[in-house]
Amino acid sequence: MSDRQTKTDVILIGAGIMSATLGALLKELVPEWNIKVFEKLAKPGEESSNEWNNAGTGHAALCELNYTNEKPDGSIDISKAIKINEQFQVSKQFWSYLVNRKLITNPQEFIKALPHMSLVQGESNVTFLKKRFEALSNNPLFQGMEYSDNPEKLEEWIPLIMNGRTSKDPIAATKIDSGTDVNFGALTRMLFDHLKNNKVEVHYKHSVKDIKRTSDGSWEVKVLDMDSGKMEHHTSKFVFIGGGGGSLPLLQKTGIPESKHIGGFPVSGLFMVCKNPKVIEQHHAKVYGKAKVGAPPMSVPHLDTRFINGKKALLFGPFAGFSPKFLKTGSNLDLIRSVKPNNILTMLAAGVKEMALTKYLIQQVLLSNEKRMEELREFIPNAKLEDWEIVVAGQRVQVIKDTEAGKGTLQFGTEVVSATDGSVAALLGASPGASTAVHVMLEVLEKCFPQHIKEWEPKIKEMIPSFGVSLSGNPDLFKDIDKSTSQTLGLSKKEPVNS
Ligand SMILES: Cc1cc2nc3c(=O)[nH]c(=O)nc-3n(C[C@H](O)[C@H](O)[C@H](O)COP(=O)(O)OP(=O)(O)OC[C@H]3O[C@@H](n4cnc5c(N)ncnc54)[C@H](O)[C@@H]3O)c2cc1C
Repeated sequence: MSDRQTKTDVILIGAGIMSATLGALLKELVPEWNIKVFEKLAKPGEESSNEWNNAGTGHAALCELNYTNEKPDGSIDISKAIKINEQFQVSKQFWSYLVNRKLITNPQEFIKALPHMSLVQGESNVTFLKKRFEALSNNPLFQGMEYSDNPEKLEEWIPLIMNGRTSKDPIAATKIDSGTDVNFGALTRMLFDHLKNNKVEVHYKHSVKDIKRTSDGSWEVKVLDMDSGKMEHHTSKFVFIGGGGGSLPLLQKTGIPESKHIGGFPVSGLFMVCKNPKVIEQHHAKVYGKAKVGAPPMSVPHLDTRFINGKKALLFGPFAGFSPKFLKTGSNLDLIRSVKPNNILTMLAAGVKEMALTKYLIQQVLLSNEKRMEELREFIPNAKLEDWEIVVAGQRVQVIKDTEAGKGTLQFGTEVVSATDGSVAALLGASPGASTAVHVMLEVLEKCFPQHIKEWEPKIKEMIPSFGVSLSGNPDLFKDIDKSTSQTLGLSKKEPVNS
């Protein structure tokens, strides 16, 4: 029996970066709406959005090679890179707006300038990187990118990676100083502080168990208060399912037609974390390599300087792996429970198609520390086992759905699934992830509140001046926006390598 029944305008499920962003946008657009948040953990930003659970890359396609594919004619397709970069510019603009309005403070606690680099070895990879550099560096969004295949230059850029390197294979890198490291955990906590200060009711240790349509078209959300053990019923006109990996099971509970024929494929992650301050100090960049053959795009190895708890850190990974859990704090039964009569064929088709991926992930889980060290030594030839420890990262649940490419196709992107009447929306998938949170939450608003978008547009443009405009096609506007966001977010200064 419920002991509590309440009505509200908006319910946000989950206290990660996505709900935080949607809540913050709505607070600016319609401050009078009542918003409630239910989070099953004790604090915000504890799952994938936590700083130790993701790689903290402000994904802007500055260094990630999987966003620029080589076409059959040998040219490089940069359209995806432009799209991702533009989406990150949207995030930076909204964060700058919040800082300028003093709705969040101390941006240096969540974002820092950090060079983004791509590093490759071997002749064909070097040729690819050079072509990629030439294709990107003509575009205003990628201005300032440098390329070098000169070992002396590379030694200057990445001493830790070049020291002790004996291979005679050609090696090359690109470097761009406008990259960032983002502490999405810190940002999520700041946004939730802001929401709480602005009359948003945030209920921690409240687990959502069910979501049902009511006779008037609203949604009734059944929530377990984990401290008292009592069940509560909250109704709302709009529900956003921002449960991260836990979104799919909640979406399935709504029963909307759009929730059918979708499955989830969980991929776990591990990072190696450096414990030696002398080694940490010798590196100052995010250096992305090329994914191994058969590896999923999200397991591209990278060596990253990070800024966590006010300290510089050095992380390598992520090593992908298989775990049936949908959340790091989830259950081993998550995957099996997500198989329903309507998605079993989709899931089975994916199982057959993705045998190689499953095999790869299982092999990754079975890697010994020594094998992981071998992969690390491809980046840091002199790496010592005693300087590194393992931390478990977050879970990424990739979407499986039927597409033009066939039944049971694994998707590596982020997807907003919403009811046709816009009364409920869920965010599935995790890539490019938190970096594009603002763009994706604007998509939620456009899909779910089409009747309000026109009236909201002036405010959205005030917050995000590039809304609806291609920055890549408007170099002057990009220059202005980049200058002002960099100033507001404190991204203009460079930090030297301390080698
Ligand atoms: C290894 C790894 C590396 C990554 N690297 C990057 C990167 O470098 N850059 C980048 O931009 N993105 C990266 N990502 C992706 C990024 O972390 C995610 O896209 C983002 O954090 C997702 O935010 P979210 O709010 O959707 O989910 P989460 O942060 O996972 O939040 C979901 C919340 O919902 C809660 N919840 C779930 N079910 C329920 C329920 N039934 N009731 C109540 N609460 C519930 C959970 O407890 C959790 O707090 C990475 C992810 C991983 C795992």
